[in-house]
Amino acid sequence: MPASSAPSSRRVKSTAIEVFKFGGASLIDAAAVRHAIGIILTTRPTRTVTVVSALAGVTDALLAIAEAARIGDSRAVDAGVDRLHTRHRQVAEGLLSLARDRKLLLADLDAAFAELRTLAHGVASLRELTPRTRDFLVARGEQLSARLVVAGLKGGGAKAQYVEAAEIIRTDGVFGNAFPDLSVTDKLVRERLLPLVRRRIVPIVPGFVGGGVDGALVTLGRGGSDLTATVLGRSLKAQRITLWKDVPGLMTTDPRLVPSARIVPQLNVREAAELAYYGAKVLHPRALIPLAHITVPVFVRPFAEPDAPGTEISTRRTLQRYPVKALSIVRDQALVTVTGNGMLGVPGIAARTFSALQ
Ligand code: ASP
Ligand code: MG
Repeated sequence: MPASSAPSSRRVKSTAIEVFKFGGASLIDAAAVRHAIGIILTTRPTRTVTVVSALAGVTDALLAIAEAARIGDSRAVDAGVDRLHTRHRQVAEGLLSLARDRKLLLADLDAAFAELRTLAHGVASLRELTPRTRDFLVARGEQLSARLVVAGLKGGGAKAQYVEAAEIIRTDGVFGNAFPDLSVTDKLVRERLLPLVRRRIVPIVPGFVGGGVDGALVTLGRGGSDLTATVLGRSLKAQRITLWKDVPGLMTTDPRLVPSARIVPQLNVREAAELAYYGAKVLHPRALIPLAHITVPVFVRPFAEPDAPGTEISTRRTLQRYPVKALSIVRDQALVTVTGNGMLGVPGIAARTFSALQ
């Protein structure tokens, strides 16, 4: 059937861009990466930009390697690097059917892991791990999974391109917890990604990683790939952002504590931001900041069940039926009450209290 006779409801505006993010907990093995690729391919003709987290557990493993290096435990470094190398190699092998493609990808992985080993041994000899080096080491998880997804898409005949996150996400340079400079990033993202999207190439961007002031690699805090996705969605004025996760959506409370917890179908951005900030593990606490003044809806959807609607986070307010949407807890809190007659209206009391409690 010629494209022009397709029903009009299925036609997509040529500028419509959808941002996808695949969470690490979902990306366990080659089958999972293939599933992610399947999701990317089924959204055509909408143009997608995809952000990927490191494969499940890889960030923790990289942090453990960094820590082993810091204390000079070279044996643990080698064992850790070997394990990660094998894991990525297995995914690569399960992903590509053509021997030639597989060989190229495996050679890429060999080079990346040789570099990781050298670097970690350098740290082990010095027994010094700076925040800058830790970020450089840990960023590798996302860089590798993004390469796997690119190779998988290309192996399946799709057009995809790896885009280095540090080149488009400019940050304040705070190692381990950087936040993007939104206006500079907006410009860089559009310059780099729009030409690809127009040529129907799917850009694949490692999540969690950005560029520091002097070009250093920085990370955006644990779970930071959510933030990468919302930043890209904002810069590209995306039609929507979908965070594919290993949960059915945002829940009314922690289902591990309350088995009867339900999925919340829709939340206002403000409500979701509060929840993320106050302990709901599902979203990076600062992921919604880039969307404060623009209306790009975010969907949290289950990776394992791509047809399920999940949770919509948008500017709509739906307070009628359930004014309280969800409950979260922050553990290990202490409540300190500071009282006294001489405090009222005395400037600096709050500051003194906070510094005394630091
Ligand atoms: N891989 C990083 C982490 O585990 C970032 C992410 O998953 O979003 O924290
Ligand atoms: Mg992760």
